[in-house]
Amino acid sequence: MAWFKKARKPIETTEKSSRVPEGLWVKCPSCGRAIYNKELVAGRKVCPSCAHHFRMSATERLQLLFDREAWTEHDAGLRSLDPLQFEDTKPYRARLEASIKATGLQDAVIVATGEIDGIETVVASMEYSFIGGSMGVVVGEKITRAAETALARRMPLVVVSCSGGARMMEGALSLMQMAKVSAALARLDRAKLPFISVLTDPTTGGVTASFAMLGDVNIAEPKALIGFAGPRVIEQTIRQKLPEGFQRSEFLVEHGMLDLVVDRRDLKATIARALRFMRAVPAPAEPPMAVAGAVDPAPQPSTS
Ligand SMILES: [Zn+2]
Repeated sequence: MAWFKKARKPIETTEKSSRVPEGLWVKCPSCGRAIYNKELVAGRKVCPSCAHHFRMSATERLQLLFDREAWTEHDAGLRSLDPLQFEDTKPYRARLEASIKATGLQDAVIVATGEIDGIETVVASMEYSFIGGSMGVVVGEKITRAAETALARRMPLVVVSCSGGARMMEGALSLMQMAKVSAALARLDRAKLPFISVLTDPTTGGVTASFAMLGDVNIAEPKALIGFAGPRVIEQTIRQKLPEGFQRSEFLVEHGMLDLVVDRRDLKATIARALRFMRAVPAPAEPPMAVAGAVDPAPQPSTS
């Protein structure tokens, strides 16, 4: 028989599972308010009390940006073939299968064409729940093709990043995507077609180090974590305490790394305005301009 025994149960933690069915209410991690899930979805996943931006899926992002929530998807069938036969705690193939099953996507990005406030645009939207939105060969190839589609059809490109960086399970092959996408964007730039980069929480690693920071306009969502290496790694390397708000959107705008921090509810209007400013509007959408000396075939009703 034991000399000591624990008579009482250990103290229950405050983080006990709620009795409310999962998914019906969501607690805001910023202000603590319980938000009815439907209300949150209707409000574009922004907390109605404190404007905390919850993470959005790639599909929700397209619904937010495209008119009438309508778009045509491109290269939906591309998938990784596990070129390195990589295995860590579990085989990469198994990870891929699990992510494909969980998200219904073949990889961590959706590329689509549709209209943003009437402007035909190519949008690439990254999915964080697919292996941390990491960029492997498929993500790199799809975003490159998105740039090439934009080039061929003379349309602007918008890339919404949400990524942990390059996909280590594809090693150097995923790192090569940084150069490949950047080269495609350079061609877009030479063709004078606008590219807008939207950085959402989180945008880190090889994605920040390549296309996410190459936009003609770089727009971030409020308080998004944007950086290359994580703050802990930097602190340990330079042996210094990092300043308050380091690697957050607002800090980066202040230090000239980004152009704008935009509330998600104004994101679409801001993108459309920026595209118009960069002359992305197709000519037929505008009314024909009156030219001096030209004969107007339709006689105007006289006011006199
Ligand atoms: Zn809140």
